[in-house]
Amino acid sequence: MTATLEPTAGTDAPTETFDSLNPATGDVVGTHPIASKADVDAAVARARDTADWWGNLSFDERAEYLLTWRSVLTRRIAQLAELSHRETGKPHGDAQLEIVLAIDHIAWAAKHAKKVLGPHKVKSGLLMANQAATVEYRSLGVVGVIGPWNYPVFTPMGSIAYALAAGNTVVFKPSEYTPGVGQWLADSLTEVVHGRAVLQVVTGLGETGNALCTSGVDKLAFTGSGRTGKKVMAECAENLTPVIIEAGGKDSLIVDEDANLTKAAEAALWGGMSNAGQTCIGTERVYVHERVFDSFMTEILSQAKGLRAGADSGAKIGPITMPSQIDVIRTHIDDAIDKGAHVALGGKDAVGDRFVQPTILTHVPEDSVGMTEETFGPTLAINPVASMDEAVELTNATSYGLAGAVFSKKRGMEIAKRIRSGMTSVNSVIAFAGVPTLPFGGVGESGFGRIHGPDGLKEFTYAKAITRQKYRPPMLLTSFARDPKTDARVASLITLLHGGKKTIK
Ligand code: NAD
Repeated sequence: MTATLEPTAGTDAPTETFDSLNPATGDVVGTHPIASKADVDAAVARARDTADWWGNLSFDERAEYLLTWRSVLTRRIAQLAELSHRETGKPHGDAQLEIVLAIDHIAWAAKHAKKVLGPHKVKSGLLMANQAATVEYRSLGVVGVIGPWNYPVFTPMGSIAYALAAGNTVVFKPSEYTPGVGQWLADSLTEVVHGRAVLQVVTGLGETGNALCTSGVDKLAFTGSGRTGKKVMAECAENLTPVIIEAGGKDSLIVDEDANLTKAAEAALWGGMSNAGQTCIGTERVYVHERVFDSFMTEILSQAKGLRAGADSGAKIGPITMPSQIDVIRTHIDDAIDKGAHVALGGKDAVGDRFVQPTILTHVPEDSVGMTEETFGPTLAINPVASMDEAVELTNATSYGLAGAVFSKKRGMEIAKRIRSGMTSVNSVIAFAGVPTLPFGGVGESGFGRIHGPDGLKEFTYAKAITRQKYRPPMLLTSFARDPKTDARVASLITLLHGGKKTIK
């Protein structure tokens, strides 16, 4: 990604542009404008106008547009995957996989918005028995989405599809490393809605993202690093703009003594190395019961044979997309080894200029930076533990709390419940991301708010409560005409209802 000044055809004012580069080769993939504050404000104003139309469609009408968009994406999946492959460097198959999951989410959000958000009756309670109470979830208006580069389709789509299905229009600021993918997504929906500004893209660097935070959008959904997330929240606070923060993680995969070690090793390897380890919900730490530690290591090293990073079609691991991450990965590996970690695969020499070869370290000191901070590279730190209690304790000894996995035949669910994180897969890895009904998001420094599922739909709405009086109340409570007799009857009623003899022993 490099920024330059380019004159805009037909005007005297130069428009700043930047290039997105292929991280495997350094070749220019595309040139995009850097949207100024005025450009962002104009996009939000257009989105607000369009929100009148989009937000007032019925759920069924919106679903029809979104399902048509889903079909367009499906038919053009190879085209989008190729663009994502060029901008991120990830293998074509991996690029396709994240689009597949995103398509499924669009379909789920479109088909379920009515049931989850539409008006429904709720009980009014004995004190208010004369009332007919309803609740519905109304769209907020315009939602701003700021996305990262590591899953340039799947990740922002978790906000975009759910915000749109809930009746909002969206202004999307994709990562400066993947602007082409963002523009492609907006163009394809714009085609379906006949040119209306339902989903617009503003390309640019951090400043463009900052402009979106201060543009007066009704909610801002941010996915990226915790460091930027804090800046986004601070900017949004100025206008009391609510935010969702989907930030980083330091997820662990726990292997119990009764686990299927072949499957656990396969999951740890893929969870840690796929997408060159640049996955927020990727496996970074592995805790293995000491009774099966040696067998697990034999298994994972055998499965890792032949796994390598490269630009050729035989390489299952692509380049590091963001060049500055190379130094972070190097520091984490060096620090762990310098503090006494054993090298099982790769190591200090694994870090190249554009590619990092798979690296597996064991007996990694818990205080090394690779155990406490997100590495975002094709590395795994695998440590033996004496018990599942220790595995849970170490897993939870992090400021993050995004996701994780547990492999155990008997105790999977029990261990999963003890992990302080937003999502856990038992006997699989990252599976929750593909279950559209499950909420996606973290706790602690991994952020807050949820995308996906019913929670993800509600996230982009406000609850509207209406209660309608059906008949005159037997006791008039909300009036100065209330008399002492009514007060006495209310006191008796509340005692009857809630004054029971419950005592805690
Ligand atoms: P980043 O924080 O560098 O950038 C994210 C986005 O924020 C980009 O579009 C960037 O241009 C924009 N931005 C930068 N400065 C800004 C500012 N001051 N105001 C507003 N926007 C600004 O993150 P990244 O390197 O693109 O993404 C990697 C990170 O994202 C990792 O930490 C990863 O774990 C996290 N991530 C989290 C999830 C999740 O769902 N929790 C998913 C994918 C990635």
